[in-house]
Amino acid sequence: MPPDDTDSQVTVLGGGAVGLCTALELAGRGIPVRLIDRDTPGQGASMGNAGVISPFSVVPQSMPGVWKKAPGWLLDPLGPVTVHARHLPRFLPWALSFLRNGTSERVRQISLGMHALSDGSVDIYRQHLAGTGHEALLQDSCYVLAHRNPDTARDTGLDSELRRAAGARVEVIGDAALREMEPDLSPEFRAAVIIHGQARATSPGRLMQALADKLRSTGGEILKHEVKALRPGTDGGWQIECAGTTLHARRIVLSAGAWSARLLKPLGLKLPLEAERGYHLMFADPGVRLNNSVMDTDRKFVASSMEDGIRAAGTAEFGGLDKPPDPRRAEVIAKLARQMLPGLNTAALTTWSGIRPSFADSLPVIGEIPGHPSLYGAFGHSHYGLMMAPRTGRIMADLLNGAPPNVDLSPYRADRFGSV
Ligand SMILES: Cc1cc2nc3c(=O)[nH]c(=O)nc-3n(C[C@H](O)[C@H](O)[C@H](O)COP(=O)(O)OP(=O)(O)OC[C@H]3O[C@@H](n4cnc5c(N)ncnc54)[C@H](O)[C@@H]3O)c2cc1C
Repeated sequence: MPPDDTDSQVTVLGGGAVGLCTALELAGRGIPVRLIDRDTPGQGASMGNAGVISPFSVVPQSMPGVWKKAPGWLLDPLGPVTVHARHLPRFLPWALSFLRNGTSERVRQISLGMHALSDGSVDIYRQHLAGTGHEALLQDSCYVLAHRNPDTARDTGLDSELRRAAGARVEVIGDAALREMEPDLSPEFRAAVIIHGQARATSPGRLMQALADKLRSTGGEILKHEVKALRPGTDGGWQIECAGTTLHARRIVLSAGAWSARLLKPLGLKLPLEAERGYHLMFADPGVRLNNSVMDTDRKFVASSMEDGIRAAGTAEFGGLDKPPDPRRAEVIAKLARQMLPGLNTAALTTWSGIRPSFADSLPVIGEIPGHPSLYGAFGHSHYGLMMAPRTGRIMADLLNGAPPNVDLSPYRADRFGSV
């Protein structure tokens, strides 16, 4: 047993936003923590996202009526969702479960589970960044949900009800006010629903780097290994088999994003975690500016001004964890971004793609994995991982510190799918 292998030590597997926030909270409570990632921490999905950080992220992906819109999305070449034919047999059960979660009753339950994970997210990030010199990586922002049809920009309906219940201040604005707020936005957009009181990351990648640096400076260890398998040890701990070495851990937090379920499968756990690929385009020297995070509500993508240009991000592509990116999806976003921002200079353009870890009920797994003592899960944050990571980290640290978290953890149980 290595000398630092104390009873309280925690090994965090996967250093995206969720793993980094968890490790930081543990280190902050004096718990010895090491974080393992195969790459530079935080440079996967947690780097490539749209940077939206909302304490009001309480509207699930599956909403009543989504089944009516889905066929149109799938058939539209510029649509927000693609499913690859070969992946259909695995995708269909997930899709059916996704639709079953879209009843008003389920949505209200799920929304409470989302609220518990997004509430206070901006404040916790600010606490993590305080004193690092990187406080400006988080900017106050509204979420501008931009509509072409003014009649669809409304503050009624289930989504508004959920946001209001979470304490959001929501406002509907017309053409003139939208022009004032976002002068570079296409005049095609004639109204917007504004969600106040959010933040946006001006460089999610640098934000992750700042969290990793803080973790090191507060005593956390960061190791670079590719984890191949997890095996129960003989002493109640775990063996972590990595490429070229085997490590021992007393307690593990599995936060390997979309790859988490694959590491659990050899233990007999079959979790329906989908790999939902998304894309972003960075337009360096864009020639236009956005003052807030802006969503095109028809095309379902988000654009935001960041440190190094304008980022347009979106698309849900279901093709399995190992399917390589499809450059055509990035081209779709380029076209949509030009529509959103007619003055956009597209000369200097880079593309990126990464994978969201998505369960059909829009909620992650959080907590000890039933039947596997000392193995904890913190993964499956789908479209919301940047915003839910800080609260998830706090809950995990409470759990591992023996303090009951002030949150009902039953919505996040790994056995809610009946397969554990
Ligand atoms: C286009 C796009 C836009 C998005 N926009 C937003 C947004 O605006 N706001 C928001 O909140 N969320 C957004 N999301 C979702 C968000 O980015 C994810 O939910 C979040 O990044 C997931 O974080 P994570 O820590 O769980 O996973 P990841 O960031 O994927 O981190 C997992 C880590 O585990 C490591 N790992 C995996 N397997 C192994 C292994 N075997 N051994 C060692 N290391 C391993 C990986 O290297 C990686 O660093 C967006 C996602 C996409 C794709």
